[in-house]
Amino acid sequence: MRLLPFFLLLAFLITGCAGSFPFGAAGPETPPPAEPLTVKVLDVGQGEAILIRTPEQTVLLDTGDTSERQKLRAALNKEGVRTIDKLIVSHPHRDHLGGAETVFRYFQVKSVYDNGQITTSKLYRDYLKTIQRKDLPYHSLKDGDTLDFGGGVTFHVLGPTEAMLAESEAPGAKRDLNRNSLIARLTVGGFAMLLTADAGEEAEIGLLERHPAEALRCQVLKAGHHGSKTASSASFLRETAPEWAVISCGAANEYHLPHPSTRQRFEAQDIAFYRTDRNGTITVVTDGRTYTMTTERGAANDATEN
Ligand SMILES: [Zn+2]
Repeated sequence: MRLLPFFLLLAFLITGCAGSFPFGAAGPETPPPAEPLTVKVLDVGQGEAILIRTPEQTVLLDTGDTSERQKLRAALNKEGVRTIDKLIVSHPHRDHLGGAETVFRYFQVKSVYDNGQITTSKLYRDYLKTIQRKDLPYHSLKDGDTLDFGGGVTFHVLGPTEAMLAESEAPGAKRDLNRNSLIARLTVGGFAMLLTADAGEEAEIGLLERHPAEALRCQVLKAGHHGSKTASSASFLRETAPEWAVISCGAANEYHLPHPSTRQRFEAQDIAFYRTDRNGTITVVTDGRTYTMTTERGAANDATEN
C-alpha cells in the first residue's frame, strides 16, 4: 500500500476513504454524505455492471457477463432494486450486455440507452427484440448528449462519435467494439466520475483530442477495459487526474486483469485503486462536495496477481 497522508489514513480506518472537492480529504469526523448520488460498481464476477442511484432515479450501466446473470440478479435484489429508470448498455459485448435479458425479465425497465453499435450476435438481436416486444423507449447516445438523472446528477456522454461508429462499419475496417464503448462523465456539484467501459488507449486519445481536460477531470475513474494494459494510459491519467480508480474484474479471470503495468501507472501518478475481484462491490457516495468510497472487503491497492 502506498503511503497516505495521515488524515487520509484516518479517513480510511473509518469509512474506507473520504475525499472532498476541490481536493484535500474530508476530516475523519465528516459523516459520509447521504445524497444525492450513490454509484456501486457491482461485484458480478466477470464483466461489468454499475448501479447509479439518485433521489429520483435508478440507473443500471451494463449488465455483467452472460455467465453471471444470477449474480447480477442477486446483487440488484440485495440493493432493493425493483425499477430501473434507465438501462444503459456501453457496448454489445457479452460481458456488458450478457445480463440484459435477466434485467428485462425480473426488473421493471422504463427506458434503454446504448452506444448505437450494431452487431449480429444472437445476444444483441435478442436484446433488440425484447426492447421492441416491450415497446420500451430506446435511444442511442453520442458524444455531446446528456442525460438528467435527477438530484442535480448529470450523465455527460463523451464518446463514441458518429464518425467512430461509421468508421468501424466501413468495408474492410477493423471492428473495434471496445473502442466505440459509451464513455461518460457522471457529475453532481464539484464531483465527477469518469465511466469508460472498455475504452482503450485509442479511445482515450480521441477523448483528449475532442474535449478540454476540464471536461474530463474526475475524482474517481472507472478504469477502462477491466484494468487491461491497453487502457488507462499515462497521458489519460495525467489529464483526467483521478484520486481513485475502480477496476471491475472477475476473480481468476482468464486475462489476468488488472495488468501489472496498469497498476504501476496508477501508482506512478499516486492514484489509489479498488478492484471488484478483491474488494467486492465498490460504493461511491457523494453530495457533490465530498465523497466517500467503501468496499465489502479488503484493502486498497491490492496488487495480488489474478
Ligand atoms: Zn468488458
